[in-house]
Amino acid sequence: SQPRPERPLSIVDETWEMLDPNPDVRAMFLQFNDKFFWGKLSGVEVKWSPRMTLCAGVCSYEGRGGLCSIRLSEPLLKLRPRKDLVQVDRDGHGPEFCKHMNRINQASGTNITIYHSFHDEVDVYRQHWWRCNGPCQNRKPFFGYVKRAMNRPPSARDPWWAEHQMTCGGTYTKIKE
Ligand code: ADP
Ligand code: ZN
Repeated sequence: SQPRPERPLSIVDETWEMLDPNPDVRAMFLQFNDKFFWGKLSGVEVKWSPRMTLCAGVCSYEGRGGLCSIRLSEPLLKLRPRKDLVQVDRDGHGPEFCKHMNRINQASGTNITIYHSFHDEVDVYRQHWWRCNGPCQNRKPFFGYVKRAMNRPPSARDPWWAEHQMTCGGTYTKIKE
């Protein structure tokens, strides 16, 4: 059997990568709920999402008093070190999130942040590229590129389409798939 650690390990201790490289996310969530959230997250379910590739984790609510569901991207997280799973986050978190983030980082030595750093992996799944032939080619932040995981060309269905028509006026052509 596995030798048990003598002292309780930090939840991001190197040793965990060997003891338990592919942890059971539900069991881990129950443990963290108990350890960091006063058991208040019993209405939250955690699931692997086999096809989500645009971000590492998302959270959805069913409304007042209902379930909250957290989905973790299997393609983005499965092959990464365990500590990235423990520290998974999503941008767009507010001050309340940051307060708890700081509290848990202090208590356990984690490095939970509000910015995730899986951009390389996210890009791996964005294999459909279009480039505009207009002046936005030279403009920050996109330089005329649209990169998507799905083969959905830029069109009037995009919320930014009208703005692009007005400020650039160029045409998008598929350059990679
Ligand atoms: P996501 O990146 O979440 O998949 P979309 O693929 O729908 O979102 O659109 C985001 C992309 O659209 C950006 O990465 C960029 O390439 C392009 N885009 C967004 N806003 C503009 C804009 N105002 N002008 C030109 N291109 C834009
Ligand atoms: Zn353009």
